[in-house]
Amino acid sequence: MPSATDPNSILFERARAVIPGGVNSPVRAFRAVGGTPRFVKRAQGAYFWDAADQRYIDYIGSWGPMILGHGHPAVVEAVQRAVTEGFSFGAPTEREIELAEAILALVPSMEMVRLVSSGTEAAMSALRLARGATGRKYIIKFEGCYHGHADALLVKAGSGLATFGNPTSAGVPPEVVQHTLVLEYNNLAQLEEAFTLHGHEIAGLMIEAIAGNMNFVRASAAFAQRCRELCTQYGALLVFDEVMTGFRVGLYGAQGVLGIRPDLTVLGKVIGGGMPLAAFGGPRAIMEQLAPLGPVYQAGTLSGNPVATACGLATLKEIAMPGFYEALSKKTRALVDGLKAVAAAEGQPFSADSEGGMFGFFLMDALPQNYGAVMTTDSARFNALFHGLLDRGVYIAPALYEAGFVSAAHSDEDIAATIEAARQIFGKTKPP
Ligand code: PMP
Repeated sequence: MPSATDPNSILFERARAVIPGGVNSPVRAFRAVGGTPRFVKRAQGAYFWDAADQRYIDYIGSWGPMILGHGHPAVVEAVQRAVTEGFSFGAPTEREIELAEAILALVPSMEMVRLVSSGTEAAMSALRLARGATGRKYIIKFEGCYHGHADALLVKAGSGLATFGNPTSAGVPPEVVQHTLVLEYNNLAQLEEAFTLHGHEIAGLMIEAIAGNMNFVRASAAFAQRCRELCTQYGALLVFDEVMTGFRVGLYGAQGVLGIRPDLTVLGKVIGGGMPLAAFGGPRAIMEQLAPLGPVYQAGTLSGNPVATACGLATLKEIAMPGFYEALSKKTRALVDGLKAVAAAEGQPFSADSEGGMFGFFLMDALPQNYGAVMTTDSARFNALFHGLLDRGVYIAPALYEAGFVSAAHSDEDIAATIEAARQIFGKTKPP
């Protein structure tokens, strides 16, 4: 725990005077787990160092983008070269085409792609495109799936199926979310009922097919398949939000893992390699509905930014190397299996799952299937584990409803040190 004279505490005080909550994105503030956020000074490989020069094994990786670890030499070089050529032009560049071509080569469901600057923007634009292309108003989203903070997507579960969404945030008038239907994840009966009641009015169904915003929860194969079938049957667009899973759970994303072809795909995080870059795409006929060709407006001053695209391109080049995901998956699985083993040895209820370089663990015996089940986690136990790991130089997400990320830079020693840290904490904690 940092003292009042700790550099992190001093920075936090300063930050709170000028930035709401001291942070520019809420979960960084440690509100859920308590304590003082660590202010990052620098990062390299699998580690970052805080303001007190304390080193942490980083299992956040900027919440997903840093799949190669921090400061990968090929990426740094590409970014440095790009910077010397110019920061932003507001006119097209060849590099945007190269990145578009690289993305399309790896995501067979996409024939065209548009680059934007954040996942929020990409999901919001995909939603507008789905509505514009179908001429319909309603959308389906699932409780526990996060698609950025655009008004219409910022909806938690309503209370039951026929209830349309209630805004999760102040400042979102109920009218703005009245066309957002919120369903329980993995609930087939609710899904069927929603389409029976509203199928012909639904523009799109947006889903994190492997969800990373309620910790780590997979859509069952049957559920994902039924989403596909019902969208096809009723003429709604199936939108996979792969901001987190794209190039993270495997080279072909959640759609590759599940073997399902969505109509639209939303990407972010890894495709920018840590720079502000995101994208959405799909079939040519739908994408050509976008301005300047079609009636659906969408634009961005910094879209396709030359430095961000250089960073993304260099990152994609590395992850497309043969064996990349095999090695990453093996490492992530070793972490998850190791954590399970020490939890079992200490009699702690524990379950965990991973795919590619993304993982989740739960302080309960069985893997939860939806948000409600995730939120039954004993938060006091999670917070004790979080702070125990932090004190031992291991940085996991400061909230129990977040997934974790392993990078190619994590070594076997890093994984072993993390498992050992967890063993010590579990050993000190009485099982419930
Ligand atoms: N969709 C998903 C699945 C996400 O995980 C996130 C961010 N965590 C977003 C959209 C929003 O992306 P951004 O934070 O870049 O706006």
